[in-house]
Amino acid sequence: MVNYIIVTGGVVSGLGKGITTASIGKILQLHGYKVTAMKIDPYMNCDAGTLRPTEHGEVWVTEDGGEIDQDLGHYERFLDINIPKYHNITTGQVYGAVIEKERKGKYLGKTVQPIPHVTDEIKRRIRKPSQEEKFDFVMVEIGGTVGDYENVLFLEAVRQMKLEGDKVLYFHVTYVPVLNALGEAKTKPTQHSVKLLREIGIQPDFVVTRSDDPLDDVRREKIAMFCNIHEEDVISNSDIDNIYAVPLLFEEQHLCKKILNKLNLRKNHNDLKTWKNFITKIKKFDKKINIGIVGKYFDIGSSQLSDSYISVIEAVKHAAWDNNLNPEVQWINSKVFEKKPEKLSTLDDIDGIIVPGGFGLSGIHGKIEAIQYAREHDIPYLGLCLGMQLAVVEYAQNACNLKDANSREVDKKTTHPVIDFIPDQVNIIQDSRYGATMRLGAYPAVLKKGTLVQKLYGKNKIYERHRHRYEVNPKYVDILEENDLVFSGRSPDGVLMEFMELPSHPYFVATQAHPEFKSRPMKPSPLFDGFIKAAKKKSLRK
Ligand code: GLN
Repeated sequence: MVNYIIVTGGVVSGLGKGITTASIGKILQLHGYKVTAMKIDPYMNCDAGTLRPTEHGEVWVTEDGGEIDQDLGHYERFLDINIPKYHNITTGQVYGAVIEKERKGKYLGKTVQPIPHVTDEIKRRIRKPSQEEKFDFVMVEIGGTVGDYENVLFLEAVRQMKLEGDKVLYFHVTYVPVLNALGEAKTKPTQHSVKLLREIGIQPDFVVTRSDDPLDDVRREKIAMFCNIHEEDVISNSDIDNIYAVPLLFEEQHLCKKILNKLNLRKNHNDLKTWKNFITKIKKFDKKINIGIVGKYFDIGSSQLSDSYISVIEAVKHAAWDNNLNPEVQWINSKVFEKKPEKLSTLDDIDGIIVPGGFGLSGIHGKIEAIQYAREHDIPYLGLCLGMQLAVVEYAQNACNLKDANSREVDKKTTHPVIDFIPDQVNIIQDSRYGATMRLGAYPAVLKKGTLVQKLYGKNKIYERHRHRYEVNPKYVDILEENDLVFSGRSPDGVLMEFMELPSHPYFVATQAHPEFKSRPMKPSPLFDGFIKAAKKKSLRK
């Protein structure tokens, strides 16, 4: 029978509940259990595709084309599995489904109410993965904090699950602050948060405390007493420098054993060695590699900024670690180059440059200038989606003598739209159907024999995930290739350009896809791996 691990949060948002959920899942997986994970987002949007990355962080794209909260990315990276889009539940989806059923007369004669109709719909969705496939554990993270209006029905639904006979354990993740004036860790916010949860009818089985330093015995005792749990079930999750070490932090506190005991499950074999070795290995690297990410999301503060590109950063880390290097990521605001072109020479100090995905016009010209600089100064370059589109624009303008070349997204009137709408997108935009209508999810690409990209993948046909409305305009493929740009991968029908490279450059590779979504610890994405190797070579040239 499947077991559900429900993870709720309290006190403040942004506690790293996603990492906590992924890490609990990981230790269960490392002990031989089959684990998957779900994320509940209490907002009214049907998915994360229409949210602003600077407010909400990156939009994660699943293999089957879902646009989802970045936490699903953590689950995929930690658990090394592909998670389908229906593992993300939002209020918008749930209400949408209930209203549709009501209109179709599915509840005929009944008054349709939040309880039981909305909660039944939520439970149906939470139970769906284990009906489709056999899992030992389904991790269910509920977004937001206890006390928010918007997640009350989700909490009510998971409360009912236990009553209805599902095997459920509740984890509550809270924050234990240290007040500067007192220098003392305070447990009162945790006590209040658990009190709120108990008012809803949920008694947590475990309380996971987020804090700067490990929780001491005095606070542990207090939390146990006031939250009505055993001391050993207060799990300390203090700050550590590497998120991938969190599962080991839990293992040190015997969390897996405690979970299994509560569920009367026997211990399976354990395979912690590989993960432990991985963590020990990456802690040792002292050689640094300096990667610059040229982006535009810089107005809201540094923590939000890095969240907007989290999968790119993780992919850089995975590839760097695999090459025994310590990655250092620098944020480069492309708008700076628009005002001060002389700043472009600062790029010489960087070992490799990435232009990641993006939308809209701001900072575009600065990005194009940075790409030109990387191309002309042999700086390794990796272009991701928008980063490929702008590389093509730059090449058309400066190497193919098409001065007015541009992307239709940037300049609607350009005489040389080297990047243009994917044909289906024209009607979609005209009708303002923005939700879930981009080219989304994994698509195949056939790689050209003998190209660098084909060598890096070591295969002729690969699948990467996509999220875009524009593409290389087929009318310009010949002229670009005549000028030595190579399209090293295309859609199987040959129409869409999926990869490009410049053979004369040490590493100038770009893709219309987002390979960062498939990068995993110990399994770096081939394009990132090639990029880091080239960056390492450049660092030795210094
Ligand atoms: N804005 C571009 C497009 O829609 C690129 C999107 C992206 O980088 N994900 O095609």
